[in-house]
Amino acid sequence: MQNERLYNEILELASRKSIFYPSSEIYNAPAGFWSFGPVGESIRRKVIDFWRKEFVQKNEMLEIDGCITMPEDVFKASGHLTSFVDPEVVCGKCKSRFRADKLLSDKLNKLIPESLSLSEFNAMMKKNNIKCPSCKEELSEVKKSSLMVQSNIRGEKNFYLRPEACQSIFLDFLRMCKTMRVTLPKGIAQIGKAFRNEISPRQSILRSVEFMQMEAEIFFNPEKINDIEDFKSVENYKLRILRAGKEDVEEISCKDLVNKRFISGKLLCYYLAKEQQFYEKLGISRDKMRFRELSKEDRAFYAKESFDFEVLTSIGWLELSANNNRQDHDLKEHGSGSGQDLSFTEDKKFIPYVFEVSIGVDRTLYAVLELGFVKEKDRNVLKLNPRLSPYDVAVFPLVNKDGMDKKAKEVVKILKDNLYEVFYDDSGSVGRRYRRMDEIGVKVCITIDGVSLKKNDCTLRDRDSMKQIRVKIDDLPCVLNNIIVFNKDLEEFGKFVN
Ligand SMILES: [Zn+2]
Repeated sequence: MQNERLYNEILELASRKSIFYPSSEIYNAPAGFWSFGPVGESIRRKVIDFWRKEFVQKNEMLEIDGCITMPEDVFKASGHLTSFVDPEVVCGKCKSRFRADKLLSDKLNKLIPESLSLSEFNAMMKKNNIKCPSCKEELSEVKKSSLMVQSNIRGEKNFYLRPEACQSIFLDFLRMCKTMRVTLPKGIAQIGKAFRNEISPRQSILRSVEFMQMEAEIFFNPEKINDIEDFKSVENYKLRILRAGKEDVEEISCKDLVNKRFISGKLLCYYLAKEQQFYEKLGISRDKMRFRELSKEDRAFYAKESFDFEVLTSIGWLELSANNNRQDHDLKEHGSGSGQDLSFTEDKKFIPYVFEVSIGVDRTLYAVLELGFVKEKDRNVLKLNPRLSPYDVAVFPLVNKDGMDKKAKEVVKILKDNLYEVFYDDSGSVGRRYRRMDEIGVKVCITIDGVSLKKNDCTLRDRDSMKQIRVKIDDLPCVLNNIIVFNKDLEEFGKFVN
């Protein structure tokens, strides 16, 4: 770990403010399961809403919500039952379980692909004399451990919880074509939980058994991979990319990436650009992001071309999303698995290819928390994009008497009637109330003071600059909309006071 202190500080903040915390904690809180409290759930939901607006709706995708539990046949066809495995070793003495690739990566200080064969793993474990990290005893031979979580529906063992949100998208492709007048290319999106039977869940919400994904599968005709009208809008936009086998991140325009054949077509490049723009708009700075191209050994079993989107955090480069050219793997396998014809006709019949953008929501939440966290002299501030503030606005009466409390509650009602999410607080000094809101990232605080009663106005205070302006209460909904949705400066709406 590169900066364990900051990572622990985020965990401490998360626990103290109930952003996220171990699930079932009044019992024994099993490893790998996390809950999200009011603040965390609100930020997480806003990340999802933002993606839905920026990525799904702007690109005219269809959104579905399929089942988490699916029959065995689905995962036989998809390949997950045989290929979705981790190399596992067990300690002969303390019975702890570990991933062989991780133990080797730690020891050799380089990435060891999980796709090595069992004999390659066993040879490497022996050569490097790897012992149990907990008790230094002998470890078992490396064996394959399935990442699939089996369920027990109607007493049968032939159901599984989905290991990635996307499978129902492939299963529903035929139905979408029949009922939604699909033309290609077409994205189908799904947001929801997925499950992985992790050998050793760790690093809080960064590697848990149950996690949230937002995925888009873009179906396209492989012969028309460069037929994408909107490519013009991104052709000069530069992706930050670490190509396989290279040491440094390069900034390369989409046009050049396609012309130099670093990416196999305009369609893929377009969606990578849209994804990078989404993260930029979310508030992550460019110098902390990159697409890492995966080598053949590092790619998932279904992918022919893969780019992980990563951001630089205190614990190193953290993967937030996987972007895979899955080719015709899914529709071909589900076609033969189900006996249905999943081809598409456009001049002639063919099996569409799929480009996948698969984002980890919980990891994205962690990244915006850590990258937004600033420690100042006498306060902690979470500098989130205002659209991700857990509450749109907080409202305080300066003191809890003389009619200020009544007026403040009237303002709360007006804002709620305008569909703002409002947090009302009248306990402790105003300074402390500001600090409490700063720490969870609330961008705007409104205070009702003595002057407000006479002039029907209030002070509006900015989280980042801590500057204040006076605003007429009648103008509040409009001013807030400009600050929260359009990220405009306070100064545009009035003169700073004090
Ligand atoms: Zn041991």
